[in-house]
Amino acid sequence: MLNLSRRDFVVSTGFAAALGLSGRLAVSPAFAQKTADPAKPFVTYKIGAVEVTAIYDGIWEKPHDPAFIANASVEDVKAAMVKAGLPADFVSIPFTVVVVKTGGKTILCDSGTGGQVQPTAGKLMANMKAAGIDPAKVDTILISHFHPDHIFGLMEKETNKPVFANVEIIVSDVEYKFWTDPAVIDRLPEARKGLARRIQAVFPTWKNIRQVEGEPEVAPGIRFVSAPGHTPGHRAFHLSSGSSELMISNDTAYVPALVVANPGWRGVYDQDQATAEASRRRLLERVIADKMLICGYHFPFPGAGTIAKDGTGYALTVMKT
Ligand SMILES: [Zn+2]
Repeated sequence: MLNLSRRDFVVSTGFAAALGLSGRLAVSPAFAQKTADPAKPFVTYKIGAVEVTAIYDGIWEKPHDPAFIANASVEDVKAAMVKAGLPADFVSIPFTVVVVKTGGKTILCDSGTGGQVQPTAGKLMANMKAAGIDPAKVDTILISHFHPDHIFGLMEKETNKPVFANVEIIVSDVEYKFWTDPAVIDRLPEARKGLARRIQAVFPTWKNIRQVEGEPEVAPGIRFVSAPGHTPGHRAFHLSSGSSELMISNDTAYVPALVVANPGWRGVYDQDQATAEASRRRLLERVIADKMLICGYHFPFPGAGTIAKDGTGYALTVMKT
């Protein structure tokens, strides 16, 4: 859901280099992380017979910005963070990648930040190994949408070499066509043009991307669910096994403290805000009606929980670990 921070990262490392710092010390004091990483950076749970592992990639402690939510003030945002039990002085945006083991396959849901989005994220590979999941044994990667925090884990920093050269990467055809259309660059806001250029330089040269239409089954027991608005081809992933279901919601309700509690809040990262709100409400209503678990890429780690109606909005209860 983000990309404005890439420039900040460069400024930060440049600042550190000027001081002669290197390695982990290269994070400037302004980027010192206030949130402790989870003591155990991976959590495994079952959906029916299927094993799901939430793997922590890191966090963005996003500074407050009046433009973040069009119809809520910074004070409203701070109050919503506090109500969710989170710090008020920034917006907590963790990154959590879900790995599903089903039908003998290991499936990655999105690819993490690749250490290219925030200096406080990029731990996916190390934490996968800690969880006993070998990145070389991944069979399939499902991509929800093409924002940097979801796809930069597919490509090496600077060289753009594929990290998963022999893995089938499944994406919505709508999302693929939107970002790879040369004409889109002129239509995008300035902050998104670089992203589109990188996608256009890289994805069409790869042979392992499969575009799919609509809401097909993309792996045993996993279906794409159309949830546009955040981006034109944004997809959630619905997993079912026996009578158990999990809605892997990706960025449909990105920061639940804000937009699960207040589904009508219009976030700057939702490209088409009215469509995003409609997708969000539809998905949350389905999760409640069918009594399924939900997880989200930016939900508080480990990211899975239940949703209930709460006044004019909804409430997320994150599972205990
Ligand atoms: Zn995101």
